[in-house]
Amino acid sequence: MWTHRHLLGVESLSAADIDAVLDRAETWHALCRRTEKKSTVLKGRTIINVFFEASTRTRTSFEAAGKRLGADVVNVSSSGSSVTKGETLLDTAKNLEAMRADALVVRHASSGAIDFLASRIRASIINAGDGAHEHPTQALLDAFTIRRSKGRLEGLVVAICGDIAHSRVARSNAILLGRKGAMVRLTAPRTMLPAHAETLGPTVRVMPRFEDAVRDADVVMMLRIQNERLAGAMMSTTREYSRTYGLGPVALAKAKPDAIVMHPGPINRGVELDPHVADGNKSVILDQVEAGVAVRMAVLDLLLTGGNHTPSDALSSRP
Ligand code: ASP
Repeated sequence: MWTHRHLLGVESLSAADIDAVLDRAETWHALCRRTEKKSTVLKGRTIINVFFEASTRTRTSFEAAGKRLGADVVNVSSSGSSVTKGETLLDTAKNLEAMRADALVVRHASSGAIDFLASRIRASIINAGDGAHEHPTQALLDAFTIRRSKGRLEGLVVAICGDIAHSRVARSNAILLGRKGAMVRLTAPRTMLPAHAETLGPTVRVMPRFEDAVRDADVVMMLRIQNERLAGAMMSTTREYSRTYGLGPVALAKAKPDAIVMHPGPINRGVELDPHVADGNKSVILDQVEAGVAVRMAVLDLLLTGGNHTPSDALSSRP
């Protein structure tokens, strides 16, 4: 039973909710691999993407997801909108809602901005990343990618490495993976570790030494330094950071032989990730991107239909 109207963060999702999204995403993943990637599940619905921060993967995949489900999708970005004329976030959202939007997919630089909207807007609100707070669909697509690669989440050792303090991806992943029984190791220079990082979940541990976190890990997830949140001031030099916290073949050899390497993108090649590793056979980075469309289809489907239909109907005859 799906009961949520909004997706504000993974914090409000139970283990069963997470399974519901991942299971439904399997169907949509199969649809996306067909020549005709189209369903009519959201025919007649309107989804508006409202992005107040830069995005390549999230915005495009929400657009593709809505269109593949048959909805009408409209994109608004802050640079071309009346936000530049001084309109508030709430006024912008209320105006879009007045156009009878069924869902607003919102990205904003301020942590908490999406929760603020959700309590004031009737349309479904989906958090596409708010400040350093949450990025729920990224964590869901990461879980989907891990589950497809490893067959499970429970009991896996996942090392999350880099700018943990400013990363909404790290926060959402630590909460979700912990809730699904994975062992989460967080590693970063001390200045990039939030105070109380271990309160993110009972299976979350902080390991200041990069090598310790990567040793025998099943999954190594690398993060970009969030320069837009002034994280650059929290390290000595990029070269020094890269030498101590960058993932190259030597560090990766300490992980399990069948370990996978993940990154939410955008990658800063040669900083947190050696290009040979980014493009190597352990990298599932482009699988994450593919999963992003299917998982966002599952989220839109569940939020707007309540899941009250059989998605496999969408996969009838044609390959
Ligand atoms: N794309 C991810 C985000 O929006 C990760 C990043 O930007 O580093 O949080």
